[in-house]
Order: sequence, then structure tokens, then C-alpha cells
Amino acid sequence: MTGGKKIPHFYWRRLCQIFCFVLFSFLFIKTDYSGADEIAYAVNLLFRIDPLLAATASLAARTFITLMLPALFTLLFTFVLGRFFCGWVCPLGALLDGGHRLVPPVGGKDGVYRNTKYYLLAFLLVAAWFGLPAAGYLDPFSILVRGLTLAVYPAFNALNTTFFTFTYQHGPDWLNSMTEPVYAFLKYTILPFDQKYYDLALLSLFILISVILLERVERRFFCRNLCPLGAMLAVTARFSLLRGIGGSKCGKCRNCREVCRMGAIDEERKISRSDCNLCLDCVAVCPGRKISFAFAGRSEARTPFNLSRRALVSAIGAGVILPFFLKGRSMAVNPDPFLIRPPGALPEDEFLGRCVRCGECMKVCIGNGLQPTFFEAGIEGLFSPKLRGRTGYCEFNCTLCGQVCPTGAIRKLALQEKQRTRIGHAWFDKNRCLPYASGIPCIVCEEHCPTPEKAIKFREAVVLDDNGTEVVLKQPYLVDSLCIGCGICETKCPLPGASAVRVTSAGESRDPDSIIPTTGGTGYLGG
Ligand code: SF4
Ligand code: SF4
Repeated sequence: MTGGKKIPHFYWRRLCQIFCFVLFSFLFIKTDYSGADEIAYAVNLLFRIDPLLAATASLAARTFITLMLPALFTLLFTFVLGRFFCGWVCPLGALLDGGHRLVPPVGGKDGVYRNTKYYLLAFLLVAAWFGLPAAGYLDPFSILVRGLTLAVYPAFNALNTTFFTFTYQHGPDWLNSMTEPVYAFLKYTILPFDQKYYDLALLSLFILISVILLERVERRFFCRNLCPLGAMLAVTARFSLLRGIGGSKCGKCRNCREVCRMGAIDEERKISRSDCNLCLDCVAVCPGRKISFAFAGRSEARTPFNLSRRALVSAIGAGVILPFFLKGRSMAVNPDPFLIRPPGALPEDEFLGRCVRCGECMKVCIGNGLQPTFFEAGIEGLFSPKLRGRTGYCEFNCTLCGQVCPTGAIRKLALQEKQRTRIGHAWFDKNRCLPYASGIPCIVCEEHCPTPEKAIKFREAVVLDDNGTEVVLKQPYLVDSLCIGCGICETKCPLPGASAVRVTSAGESRDPDSIIPTTGGTGYLGG
């Protein structure tokens, strides 16, 4: 095409941001049960291109996690192109850019906190090596996906369901003829398979909203100052081949400085390679076309980091020392008995080191049993997944959590292996169980037990009911060797409040010390 009008570069950037955000949303929605046992898409792709998570999980595991190999390409591209990831790819960055008109900054561009992200990065890397996994609390993907998974998406579904249920129940026929197809379409496309409920929904929402509200302080506050992934990319981008060549001898105009969302342009209009995220807005507003981006051959002095040695040493020191405090808690020898990890979860230390708190496993869990932990696994376990039997259960024929975990914290299991994997063990509280405590017949737990031979069996007993009348009924008991701890008996127990059958982590396959003493029998032994 000759003579045609050239599309400005920043339009390409916006287009790319929109494309990446749509792709992110698509993968997010597809992280769900859709009737198939296998998830057809690489729904965890975005976590696997994240070099911060790759580095911290690999340091914690003391081995390079091959699942995270794509993250190396991000670093490679950053070395060539600079910190393009933040301006063109990152969905949280796109969200901040898209919403900045709603949260306009009120503060000035003073860059006081700019180095904080480097200290955080140093802390996270060192702490990961010494056994304190914390990258998932500050990683942008984790913050975004967790906030959406635990809070926004369930609320979105509840809102839609409430609205369409209301119109269905109370609206006239002509209205329903319009709303029902809309609901069917939404259900088919963007609404989840089922309504989910999560612990810590409000906390994860609060963290996400805080990141967005920090835009009030300055534009892309999180990216400029806090994001440790941004820091890692910034360190790489310092050596990038592509660089912005700032205006010189351009008089009083400061348009580029004004428009730069990252505060990457200094008074002399030099562009910092570490901070520039290649949004290209400066090119668009420069009246004299003095700014350009090129694979400049000549070497150019890099702006010094200006890190405070004391702050850096403190960050590294905290990363070295803090993990040792974790080992001195009673939790180290006596873990929470109700901390039940998903099937395929690695041994606890390695599991926590690899888990990036993304929430993918919780989102995909059919039974809604996987919930974020609060302090059950210590402060270092916050937001990692655990099975909470009273909320939901681990579906016997499902292996989805292992398929979506981006770091292999939950191993991908074949269905047969999963069905043999014990994540815990159920126990009856005979003071609450109806056939024991009240002489009332109940076989709900046994009916739902999914194991082929039924881990819950009955013995016949003659007991007195509450009126003192003798009744003959079936009392349930557990066959230890058959129970896999899926928790469905706890979920379905009809008692209000706490269930009369509870699952604990005792007997879990991943812990050799957790063997339950048995007589080796498979039936009732009396007593
Ligand atoms: S700094 Fe962090 S949150 Fe901001 S765009 Fe870059 S990676 Fe995303
Ligand atoms: S265990 Fe769950 S929360 Fe942790 S990394 Fe894997 S999918 Fe994400």
C-alpha cells in the first residue's frame, strides 16, 4: 500500500493489550469443568510465562521446573525488546490502564517508592531459597486471578443468576422470551459451571482493589513501585537491545514526561530502559517527532539503580532469617489435622514452595471443596488450597486440579492413580452421628461414599432412642484401608452445623509418617 495513512504504533500496543486481556479472560473462563474430564486448553499458560514465579518456585524446589520453561522466553524477549511485557501483555497492567480514567491520580510523580520493587524482589528470591514461599502474594497474575476467582467471578455469577431468576419468576412472558435466551447464551459462554463459594473472598478482593486504588497516588503505582515481576523485567530490560531515544534540544515541551505512565522519562528527556514499558505514548505526543525507539548500536550510559545498600542488605537479611522463625513453631511438629491438600499434592514443604497461590485449582474444583487456607498452614501458606469437607468434596472421577496447576505443586494424576490416592481419612463423631447419638436411622454417608467397595460399612445394633424405646438400626463405621479422604461424607452429612463425620489429614499418601495403625482387617472388629 503506498500513500496510505500509517497506523500509529500505540494503536498496535492497545490492540495487543486488548488481545492479551481477551486471551487471559478466555483462559480464565475455560479454567472450569465443562463436562469433559480433560481440559483442552493450556489454561495456566499465563502463569507459566511468568519468570518471577518460575524463579521463586524453582528456587524453593531446588530444581528447574520444566513446566515453567516458557518463562525463559519472556526474559529473552525482554532482553531484546525491553519491558514490553508490562505495556503490551500483562493483564493486570491492561486493567490498570483501562481503568485509569475512573481512578485518576492525584499525587505527583516523585518516584520515592520506585526502588521498593527491587527490595521486594531480592527478599522474595532469597526467602524462596531458604524456605519462605511468598511470591504468590505479590505476583500480579496471582493477585489478579485470585481476586477474580475467589471474589469477582462468583459474585458475577450470583448477580446474573439472581437477576434472571427474578425475571423468570416474576416477569411477563414477553420479557422471558427475551431474557431466557440471553441467560442461556451467558451460561454457555462466560458464566461458570456452578455457583462457587470461597473463604477469603473479601480478602482477595481487598488486595486486588487496593492495587487498583493505588492509581490514585500515581499512575501504574503498583507497576512502578511494587511489582516484583516488574522488577525482574526491569533488571533484564536495563540491557535490552531496543531502547527509547529521548528528545534533546527540544525546548520547553514536557509532553513526553507528562504522558509517561511509568515516569520513565527524566528532565533531560532520557528514557530509562528499566522503567519504560514501551507504551509509545511519548512518541505520539512529541510535536517535533524527537523521540524514537531503535535497536541503537551505540552504547549509552545506563541510569544508575540508586539502590540503598542498607535497604538491600535488610531485604536479603530478612529473606535469610525469616524462614528460620517458621521452623520454631509448634506447627512444624504438629500440623493442623484439618489441613487436607488436594490429591497429587507434593510433600508439604515442597508443595508450599511451588504453590504460587494462583487459585487455579480452586476455580476448577468441581465439588467446590478446595478452599484457600488462612493461617492453618502458617503465614507462608496463606491462600494455598486445602479441602474443606463441609463446603465441598473431592470428586472421585476428577483430576482437574492436577491438570491446571502451573508449577506442578499438584501433580497431574491419571484417574486410576487419583482414585487410589489418600488425601485424608474420615472419622465418626459418635456423640453426634444420628444412629449412635440419637438412635435415628441414617445412611447418607455410606450412600455417597464413592469408593467401589465402600469405605463406610454398617453393623447392626440395638440401641435406646431418645424416648427410651429399643430400636434396631445400622451404625456406620470406617474401613480405614478403603477411605481416601475425599470428604463427600462430611459434605453430605445431614446434621446442621458441624458434620458427624469429619475428614482429617491422617493417613495421607504423601506423608509416610501419617500411616494410621490398623489391624489389617477390612471389617468391624467389635468394641
Ligand atoms: S509491572 Fe507488574 S503488574 Fe505492572 S505491567 Fe509489569 S508485570 Fe504487570
Ligand atoms: S496448588 Fe493451586 S493455587 Fe497452588 S499453584 Fe497449583 S493451582 Fe495454583
